[in-house]
Amino acid sequence: MVIDSKLSLQQRLDEFRKEGKTIGLVPTMGALHDGHLSLIDFAYSYCDKVVVSIFVNPTQFNNASDLEKYPRDIEGDAKFLTNHQPETIIFTPEVSEIYNDKVESESFEFGSIIQYMEGEFRTGHFDGVGSVLKRLFTITKPDKAFFGEKDFQQLQVVKSLVNITGQDVEIIGCPTSRNEFGLAQSSRNFRLTKQELKEAELIHEALSKAKNMFASNSIENIENQVKTMFQEHASFDLEYFSIAKVSDLIPTKTKESGQKYRAFIAAYLGEVRLIDNIAIN
Ligand code: AMP
Repeated sequence: MVIDSKLSLQQRLDEFRKEGKTIGLVPTMGALHDGHLSLIDFAYSYCDKVVVSIFVNPTQFNNASDLEKYPRDIEGDAKFLTNHQPETIIFTPEVSEIYNDKVESESFEFGSIIQYMEGEFRTGHFDGVGSVLKRLFTITKPDKAFFGEKDFQQLQVVKSLVNITGQDVEIIGCPTSRNEFGLAQSSRNFRLTKQELKEAELIHEALSKAKNMFASNSIENIENQVKTMFQEHASFDLEYFSIAKVSDLIPTKTKESGQKYRAFIAAYLGEVRLIDNIAIN
């Protein structure tokens, strides 16, 4: 069922709540793929009813051409989703439904977790993410909301957002869904040629190398090896490769015992910007 008005959605959800049903929200920007389906399956394992929002949020794009080129196909998405989970409620609001006539971000105090990586290279991105999610949580009042570890920094930001806003929603992180060669599924993959899709596997190779090296090599050594891998592939432009503690997401060169670390990458393959990350200890 596709609903584009927040009022109709709220009425529908109120009925479910009266029946004692729990509600899960999976926010997306559409161009749905198997990674999104894995989140939806996760949501169904925790909640009675699942809402998938499809909304290309203008305030989280710092680059107008990236926003314009973002793939959009609501009809195709609705078919894809309904084939997978016919019961799912698909919320497809217009920009005005979410922002009224003021398409602007709020600013949030997310602290160190947005200073580097996506926060550094996409100025204002996380304020845009926070702004749209705060509104989506207000509209849907979900019991739980589901986010992919594929966007790990975003997942940590959303946890921080609900602490800041005090919204009563539990944030659940879901593992990254990958193809058989390790490439993380992404809506941006739809913009890659067949050959580029093959080349894109380098991202996961680099992350796996970092993971294998982590226990017995310095972070500096790992970074050098990964940079060399990318230098050997001219079609790639590596934006960042960083290793950071999960607790602060500040890129580091030192290892502390008892801490969890992840490796993070952003790279352009032609015009398409791809990101990925994995746990390395
Ligand atoms: P997006 O439509 O790209 O904004 O993504 C919507 C949600 O799906 C976010 O929580 C993403 O982290 C998640 N997601 C995207 N790709 C994947 C993937 N390959 N595996 C798991 N979750 C994903």
